[in-house]
Amino acid sequence: MEFFKPEDAEYAINVLRHAHIVYATMEVGLDSRVHTYSGGLGVLAGDTLRSCADLRLPVAGLTLLYRKGYFRQHLHNGIQTESDEPWDVDAFTTALPHARVNITIEGRVVWVEPRVGIIVGHKQRHIVPIILLDTHLEENAPQDRGITDHLYGGDERMRLKQEAILGIAGKRALRKIGLRHVHTFHMNEGHAAFAPMEDVLYFSRYYSFNQPRIKSLVKSAHVFTTHTPVPAGHDRFPYEMIRQVIGEEDLAWESLDLGGHYECNMTKLALNLSRYANGVAKRHGEISKQMFPGYDIDAITNGVHLPTWIHPEIQKVLDTKMPSWREQPSILERCYQVITHEELWRAHQVAKKQLLKEVHKRTGITLDKNILTIGFARRFATYKRADLIFRHLERLREIGAKKVQLLFAGQAHPRDEEGKRIIQRVIDYAQQLAGDITVVFVEGYDVHLARHMVQGCDLWLNNPIPPQEASGTSGMKAAANGIPNISTLDGWWIEGITQNPQAGWIIEHGEDDANKLYDTLSHIIRVYYEHPERWKEHMVQALSLASYFNTHRMVQEYQDRAWSVRIY
Ligand SMILES: *Cc1c(COP(=O)(O)O)cnc(C)c1O
Repeated sequence: MEFFKPEDAEYAINVLRHAHIVYATMEVGLDSRVHTYSGGLGVLAGDTLRSCADLRLPVAGLTLLYRKGYFRQHLHNGIQTESDEPWDVDAFTTALPHARVNITIEGRVVWVEPRVGIIVGHKQRHIVPIILLDTHLEENAPQDRGITDHLYGGDERMRLKQEAILGIAGKRALRKIGLRHVHTFHMNEGHAAFAPMEDVLYFSRYYSFNQPRIKSLVKSAHVFTTHTPVPAGHDRFPYEMIRQVIGEEDLAWESLDLGGHYECNMTKLALNLSRYANGVAKRHGEISKQMFPGYDIDAITNGVHLPTWIHPEIQKVLDTKMPSWREQPSILERCYQVITHEELWRAHQVAKKQLLKEVHKRTGITLDKNILTIGFARRFATYKRADLIFRHLERLREIGAKKVQLLFAGQAHPRDEEGKRIIQRVIDYAQQLAGDITVVFVEGYDVHLARHMVQGCDLWLNNPIPPQEASGTSGMKAAANGIPNISTLDGWWIEGITQNPQAGWIIEHGEDDANKLYDTLSHIIRVYYEHPERWKEHMVQALSLASYFNTHRMVQEYQDRAWSVRIY
């Protein structure tokens, strides 16, 4: 990943002024040393902006600075504790002191300073600038300096303040910097939904348009992507809290009824103020329409930025055999006609060796390079069921002893007690299986470890409860490295396994998903050890999925369907 500090403020402002599209996101994975992401949503945002840079699109990103990061995970006897994870903001970003704006929070004036970092695209070195908003300024009261300290830190009220900074102060900063060509403001998730609301207030204050006219003007400039079918994943704030925190503004928010009657649902607010909305996989688009009847919700399936996630050894093979894959990843669809089993296998063994080395470095545990290695790494949200594979330990032992080894990584949100208990259980099962099946939990999951894992495991496990996974992207990263997936039929996998039934396997969902998982797994173990050529064929077929599940294709769809300007 390549994220840099612009030479100076003037240069940063100059590149920002070329933007036509602003992509606003609460989290974004820009670099492993820049701790402004927590999981899939942020990594996707980073991959999206990297593809925009490669495709030379006039896009700018908008997010918060998070001086203290998300958190660093520590595990003692399976119990997760957290500490701050500060990063070197001066090494990666330049401040724009002249573009400071303010917002009133709880009656206090809070100053917000934009800082800027840049993503540099492949080949022609097109620049996508990212604005990171910071409240850590001397003129602010101590409690306000910390608003942009932690990603998803604090309570509901803090969350509201952060979303006010992103949406309201963010919009004001764009005006102050003078991004005059922006025709589309993209809300990546409902967190940014105060941004169009700020425009409504702005138009009401300075123009004599009537409400319907203002609403349609604002709508024509915003688009929205929703990312979760889980109701708890949609932020809702009581209007009373909004009034206390940001309510000095001269408009009664609830009177507009844009976020719902009883409380302000950020997804509803975003839907009501967007000209276009989409979910992140076909099934997710359908479910979103059921959740929010009356709204037109399209579907654009997620992808991953291939050069970021594919192992260098495999990139070398692709560069030799299919050199245009970087500009035109769709040609990878037929990679199985061009890439031999042996060259992919050899490249994969290099990646596997590096992964095992990294695991040893981090844990002191030595894994066996000849054993089928199953990877599971993602946020420990309950619905993702990290502990499903351990449900019937004896059955797992029976089919997997000495034949598989398991690698786990992932963090539970500091306030997610159930997620933390799942980590504890996984570590407990690891001890119970010792001697028969090696299970390693690597602490401190981040994009660096993620990259090793999706490149070096042999099989990628994904077993969310359908239909709760909107898309999922780690499996796409694994597939792009020639690693087959074993997954419940949910999110992207519904499309992945349909496009290429040889790219992996399905875990049936029903009475007892664990038993279904074991059934499929025992078949997979036989293929891996007894039919190596068939296994390698599965690997090349998995890689072919990269032809579609990449952010170049995804961004082109956004360009065609979401970002193109339409007359209202
Ligand atoms: C890709 C990625 C994710 C997303 O994983 P899912 O399987 O989609 O839940 C989460 N965290 C990191 C660090 C990632 O790179």
